[in-house]
Amino acid sequence: MEQKWGVTDIPSSLGFETNVPLAELTSFRIGGPARFVLRPRSYDNIRSAIEFASSVDMPVALLGKGTNILASDAGFRGLVIRFDTPLHDPVYSDNTVVACCGTSLTQLARETVRHGLSGLERLCGIPGTVGGACAMNAGAYGGEIKQVLRRIRLLRNGKDEWVDVQDDDLGYRKSAFTFPDAIALEAEFALKPDDGSASETMQTCMQKRRDKQPLELPSAGSTFKRPEGHFAGALIEQCGLKGYTIGGAQVSVKHAGFVVNIGSADEHDVSALIAHIQETVKRMTGVSLEPEIKRI
Ligand SMILES: Cc1cc2nc3c(=O)[nH]c(=O)nc-3n(C[C@H](O)[C@H](O)[C@H](O)COP(=O)(O)OP(=O)(O)OC[C@H]3O[C@@H](n4cnc5c(N)ncnc54)[C@H](O)[C@@H]3O)c2cc1C
Repeated sequence: MEQKWGVTDIPSSLGFETNVPLAELTSFRIGGPARFVLRPRSYDNIRSAIEFASSVDMPVALLGKGTNILASDAGFRGLVIRFDTPLHDPVYSDNTVVACCGTSLTQLARETVRHGLSGLERLCGIPGTVGGACAMNAGAYGGEIKQVLRRIRLLRNGKDEWVDVQDDDLGYRKSAFTFPDAIALEAEFALKPDDGSASETMQTCMQKRRDKQPLELPSAGSTFKRPEGHFAGALIEQCGLKGYTIGGAQVSVKHAGFVVNIGSADEHDVSALIAHIQETVKRMTGVSLEPEIKRI
């Protein structure tokens, strides 16, 4: 089967790179080689790549900035589309902004505040793309993508269309706009005129991140979803697991809700640590922890 994926069989117009380590494409710095990687240059480029992959039965994975991902040590035998480049500048009209899903969420949040708009300032500092944020319904410090996302342009079931966002499309760290169900191409946010507090709120949220999160070490952010009525980090700390280490994977000593890569972690180390945390927290507190990070 893989025979038909020889490099010479891939139309050069698609612009695939070959054998790119996923460790270079993910914030955890973990993962073996992806057979093919596309950094799209246009929306058409994404569509053509998907059509080509499907015509040769090539599995496809989609990444934004790879900041919520644990990639396999074995890599990915197929095509990884890394959609983390803005294909155009954000377009403003009244209090709305339309952004390419490859845009950095933090850059967009900063820019909207500079434009005198409020709504994204609490999300500044989340290190992913606009598309990744829509796919995860990213949120922080009382802000959430769901509060401001009004319309989204999707490549779904072979169609490229704008859809209005419905209330039940987005929930806590889940969304109807996640690959493989859909590829989010552009997003329209309905913001409000800044009442003068957006910049300070943004700075405060960024400072909280610097104070509380282990930003100096590779990670994929919060390892677990927040269990109802609890905080994952507090439960993990309460169970004495802060600093617990398997291979190169460690429960952060700064924030127990983060598993960090202290140098040479592989997927196996992280998976073993996640399983150990889940088992210990369940045994000692009765609470089940569900991973927030996604796997390739
Ligand atoms: C230090 C740190 C702090 C973090 N803090 C927060 C936080 O405060 N709040 C929070 O919510 N998250 C946080 N995260 C997690 C992560 O940044 C978010 O989930 C982010 O939204 C993921 O965006 P991404 O572009 O990196 O997506 P990826 O990690 O590349 O992908 C995540 C998922 O989204 C899918 N996806 C990506 N782009 C698209 C697209 N265009 N269309 C359809 N599906 C897509 C992928 O297939 C995958 O399933 C943090 C991570 C780190 C490392």
